[in-house]
Amino acid sequence: MIRVQSVAPDSLGAELGLAPGTELLAVNGRALEDFLDWEFLTADDRFTLAARLPLGEEIEYDIERPEGLPMGVTLEPPRIRRCANHCDFCFVDGNPQGLRAPLYIRDDDYRLSFRYGNFATLTNLKPWDVARIVEYRLSPLYVSVHATDLTVRRWLLRNPEAPDIVPQLVWFGERGIRFHAQVVLVPGVNDGAELERTLDDLYGVGPAVLSVSVVPVALTEFSKRQLVREPTQSECRAALAAVERRAARALAERQVPWCYGADDLYLQAGEILPEAAWYGDFEQRENGVGAVRYLQTRIAASLDRLPDLTGKRIGVVTGAAMGPLMPLVLAEAARATGGRFELVVVANTLFGPSVTTAGLLPGAAIEAALRERADLACALLPAEAVNDDGLFMDDVPAERLAERVPMPIRLSYDFADALALEGVPA
Ligand code: SF4
Repeated sequence: MIRVQSVAPDSLGAELGLAPGTELLAVNGRALEDFLDWEFLTADDRFTLAARLPLGEEIEYDIERPEGLPMGVTLEPPRIRRCANHCDFCFVDGNPQGLRAPLYIRDDDYRLSFRYGNFATLTNLKPWDVARIVEYRLSPLYVSVHATDLTVRRWLLRNPEAPDIVPQLVWFGERGIRFHAQVVLVPGVNDGAELERTLDDLYGVGPAVLSVSVVPVALTEFSKRQLVREPTQSECRAALAAVERRAARALAERQVPWCYGADDLYLQAGEILPEAAWYGDFEQRENGVGAVRYLQTRIAASLDRLPDLTGKRIGVVTGAAMGPLMPLVLAEAARATGGRFELVVVANTLFGPSVTTAGLLPGAAIEAALRERADLACALLPAEAVNDDGLFMDDVPAERLAERVPMPIRLSYDFADALALEGVPA
């Protein structure tokens, strides 16, 4: 059973009388378990829907959907599938105490992998899940492989029950499912020869594995540092060399690089990022793979929409990771607008200085960095640092932050979005 959260006006759902709190029970006699059932089973033009209205009345609709008319039903959020692993590098263990409850949930949910690109390990699939991945063609899925050797993978996941990933990928691949894979690089465990083997095994799976990224493990000051450490510069260089060897082979044989280093891997290795064209459709940019080049392409594409900013100073708030890379990105925007873009690199006071990504910056640290900056005409903040409710990781509302700093702030994914749409105060 799934429950309706809201119904859009002028939609089929509203016409049927569905209301918040309505329980959606079955489509064509098939019980509804979650949003996937709802979306896939109601995709046809004709179907029956069994529902229980908020006052308890059970009703069966015979629905013929006029072409293009949406159901307009938003469902209550799904119950997240919990993770069965206990990785030493788990980001949840790296959280300080006192954050909002959802941040302590270890999710490992193939449904969110399909819908949002969250990485899943496929270690908690029931036969029923396997069947619906195939039936609904939930593809591509984003999979945390880490290592293809069964013992090493089980050790990394701290899960003695984790299935053998290569046969799993092959089995799904034979049924049309495709994957983007990631390897979180844990020095001394899955680097060196293990990384070589993992990349070779994944390449050997064939076209079912669309891409593989290698991402250096990220730890906070609360992580289990007695058990896991970050890679050194030379370890990152060695990993990049392995990535680049596979990419060269894939380019020759498959005409795509296939194997990618995360931006952080290049940064920590002290090496230059590949050009934007290397990343194709930027399939793993949410995973920090090609994110900088993606940003550059977005800015380049919107240069003609940017306002004249001659004489203005724009603060660009970011984390330490992007600090050295941002000048690349901002130079073009400055050239096109005449404005002066000034980086405000903020240290993470919540997770510790080792956490350098902009998306995890707490509101309090941003506020402290901007409080005395009355010289700025406006400040661009990383939009990914706030959730759907406008809260930073430390529960500081973006609105409150705006009241406490001397310049207007704009939440922005790529600078161009905020500047072009909202402009900059005179
Ligand atoms: S797979 Fe590992 S890192 Fe991911 S949520 Fe589970 S324990 Fe945490």
